[in-house]
Amino acid sequence: MNAAKTCQPVGAMYAALGIHRCLPHSHGSQGCCSYHRSALTRHYKEPVMAATSSFTEGTSVFGGMANLTQAIQTIFTAYEPDIIAVHTTCLSETIGDDIPSIVAKAIEKGFVPEGKLVIHTNTPSYIGSHVTGFSNMVASMVKYLSQANPKSADTFNVIPGWVEPSDMREIKRILKAMNVPFILFPDTSDVLDTALDGERQFYPDGGTTVEELRRTGGSRATFALGHFASEAAAKGLNEKCSVPAHLLDLPIGLRATDRFISALHEVCGVAVPAEIEKERGRLVDLMSDMQQYFDRKRVALVGDPDQIVALAEFCADLDMRPVYIVSGTPGKVFETRVLERLEERVPEVKIANGAGADMFLLHQWIKQEPVDLIIGNTYCKYISRDEDIPLIRHGFPILDRVGHSQFPTVGYMGAIRLLEKMLDAFLSRKDRDDAEEKLELVL
Ligand code: SF4
Repeated sequence: MNAAKTCQPVGAMYAALGIHRCLPHSHGSQGCCSYHRSALTRHYKEPVMAATSSFTEGTSVFGGMANLTQAIQTIFTAYEPDIIAVHTTCLSETIGDDIPSIVAKAIEKGFVPEGKLVIHTNTPSYIGSHVTGFSNMVASMVKYLSQANPKSADTFNVIPGWVEPSDMREIKRILKAMNVPFILFPDTSDVLDTALDGERQFYPDGGTTVEELRRTGGSRATFALGHFASEAAAKGLNEKCSVPAHLLDLPIGLRATDRFISALHEVCGVAVPAEIEKERGRLVDLMSDMQQYFDRKRVALVGDPDQIVALAEFCADLDMRPVYIVSGTPGKVFETRVLERLEERVPEVKIANGAGADMFLLHQWIKQEPVDLIIGNTYCKYISRDEDIPLIRHGFPILDRVGHSQFPTVGYMGAIRLLEKMLDAFLSRKDRDDAEEKLELVL
């Protein structure tokens, strides 16, 4: 009940938008495509464009070949993208449409202009979640586009995982500050957080170019941030083009960011600049100054697995107790990874993911023994309101607030922002609930 996830194509569409001049295409009914687009539009507050094969009852019986070949011709004629990224839906998966054969047919018919590309990924939504769809599409970018380059390039690939465009921008800032030559893919900054400047551009400036995606095969190494969203692509790149893969957590919080910066330092052979060291110092200063407000606070974390693994560690590092951990995304390694990061500091932790790990379960746990804070997406607001527990909106989707598009939560600066949000939540609650004589003006 009240699933803590959404469907695979939403993630595939988000990843595809991170390719420059790409039009995502949903091979299914118009209803699916409308839902995927609106889910992304409502979170990112930007118009999300995508095409659809517009399945009808007839397509369900005879298959989607005619619709997709027609769609490919129409899209290249009317909208002129550089690349179409097709993902399937429940219906086309159930029919069993073979997308590579259909694309080959479209190429044979001359519907794919010279120099233009069509890639695809399978996203049956009865398996996995939106994170699985994201991972599948990024792996397909590698499968279709990465080219082994005998002349080793100087670049390093960074797969940022499913994070906000603001996070992708922050990761790029860190990489530039550390003088790491990089290819970040996918990259939705300047695609889903564009400036309002009076100019209308059908395809925004941002996104990883096809040329860059081809060059990922010649990079010196790949940093995959987040096991669930990025590992498949990094492994694929290693198998296809022998690019060594370094799997890391999302750099959320102090120690996950430390590991990211250390990996850049060791693998890329670059020095850590004073600017980054100072950012770390400011974070540590704030953590130690405010420690008494975090101590032993019980927290519920719900959302996407890569985000939660890093958040659980950060909460435990702040001496909080992340006691309930729920993710709708299935995967056997989730519990192991959370427990690894908690290092036996929270023995009472309850962890659930995959089928049955939903908002209803979380609500039951909270009713049995409450928490001081919930960190999760907008859907948590119902539990927050029912139980009168503060909520910090984090993850996907956030439908009823802004800020996630502007302010990153990755890196040391992102951790400072998270810390500020947590402190605000605890202190506002204290101000509201404390007896008159205990109300403090200063910290
Ligand atoms: S039918 Fe499947 S692909 Fe379409 S919106 Fe529903 S879950 Fe997603």
